[in-house]
Amino acid sequence: MQLYNSLTHTRDEFVTHEPGKVGMYTCGPTVYHFAHIGNLRSYIMEDVLEKYLRYTGYEVKRVMNITDVGHLSSDADTGEDKMLKGAKREKKTVMEIAKFYTDAFFADCAKLHIKMPDVVEPATNCIPEFIQMVEGLIEKGYAYLAEGNVYFDTSKLEEYYVFNKQEAEDLAVGVRDGVEEDTAKRNKTDFVLWFTKSKFEDQELKWDSPWGVGYPGWHIECSAISLKHLGEYCDLHCGGIDNAFPHHTNEIAQSEAYIGHEWCRQWFHVLHLNTNTGKMSKSSGEFLTVSLLEEKGYSPLVYRLFCLQSHYRKSLVFSWEGMDGTKTAYNKLVAKIATLKDGGEIDQAQFDALKQRFTDAMDNDLNTALAITALYDVLKAKTNDATKLALIRDFETVLDLGLIEEAAKVAELQAAAKAAAAVTEWVITCETPGLDEGFMKEVEELIQARADAKKAKDFAKADEIRDTLTGMGVTLKDSKGGVSWTKG
Ligand code: AMP
Ligand code: ZN
Repeated sequence: MQLYNSLTHTRDEFVTHEPGKVGMYTCGPTVYHFAHIGNLRSYIMEDVLEKYLRYTGYEVKRVMNITDVGHLSSDADTGEDKMLKGAKREKKTVMEIAKFYTDAFFADCAKLHIKMPDVVEPATNCIPEFIQMVEGLIEKGYAYLAEGNVYFDTSKLEEYYVFNKQEAEDLAVGVRDGVEEDTAKRNKTDFVLWFTKSKFEDQELKWDSPWGVGYPGWHIECSAISLKHLGEYCDLHCGGIDNAFPHHTNEIAQSEAYIGHEWCRQWFHVLHLNTNTGKMSKSSGEFLTVSLLEEKGYSPLVYRLFCLQSHYRKSLVFSWEGMDGTKTAYNKLVAKIATLKDGGEIDQAQFDALKQRFTDAMDNDLNTALAITALYDVLKAKTNDATKLALIRDFETVLDLGLIEEAAKVAELQAAAKAAAAVTEWVITCETPGLDEGFMKEVEELIQARADAKKAKDFAKADEIRDTLTGMGVTLKDSKGGVSWTKG
């Protein structure tokens, strides 16, 4: 599989440290508010990547942190802690806020068919690991203590700014807040590994450390959590493009300084979802959530399709018109699939050829838009339903749009409607109580035969049956809803 690598700025063949196994790390949410659908675009695309790696036979271990401490309101080491901000806003404790929004995040993920990572680790679970790593960095001469905080010394690195060949637009996100002058820093690009009480007095969550009571910087958590669960080699690290700098740049700096060798080769960054008015942001008040989509009548899976129709390395503009178009496309896909009949033999040659289109698209830097086209190709193909259904089921292990389940629901509803229509169309009612069952059966069969004859416009036969029934003492009363009969 060819995948664009933000580190090398080229499309590379995807390789792992251990053949057949992928250690995958995903920067998790900062749980001080609901995730907006921009955040979720990143997680949807990462989910498809993970599922495709599994589809191609890799054994994947996916680790995600939950940022419940340390992420300041600026990506530089300034401003208030985001979690504390959330707690103040809602007059709750930081841990209450973290629990509520972590649960809300995974509930949204479930609705979007985003698989639960194999390991989910809140930062506050790993304080000893962070302290150990910061101690190691000080020992190795990569970190220093100044005015109560421990800083990473970027001047000790051979190379910093590993992602800086990215377009200016991408990097601008990371530096947008500007760096407030921090006189304790030796170099402008140094960053905090551990804050002590000397800085933010009102920090709610604090831990004892060799440098005083305090709390970790944001970047250290992802390095330490990745090392804890994936070992010294991470095969694939993911996040939204705003994470590239400074967060991922700093992760690489401290991880490689700590372990003394290359840490992660493949970096996967998802470009942003924007609105016509600009970037979507959690911190700037109003933002779009999964619940809002549902309130407005859009299934979260329609949003998943909306995301998959675009390439992850292109910014995507959200619009309600775009969602309407996707909803129509989704419903049409489901309706078409609902007409396919299960059973029969699969045409293997056709199956292989159509599957090849799908894998070619996905191997081509996760081109999900082309993969969706491959799905349409299946529906248009001149092959039997069994082959089509087998292919759709196969693609759906990766795309996970709920198409088969939704189609089954549609088919079930259609069958129920048909049955209901049949019932209201034609009811035979006996209005004489206490008749012999065999006699009733015989009469009803004759009534049915008469109706069939009428339908076939064989009126002579219909009259003949009526006469037979009259001879049996049966009187018929025809109505729009069916026939009722009495026995005299
Ligand atoms: P946060 O909760 O702010 O830590 O962000 C969670 C994830 O969403 C990170 O991977 C971010 O890079 C990503 N992200 C933030 N904003 C957007 C956006 N507008 N579009 C796509 N991904 C985003
Ligand atoms: Zn991270």
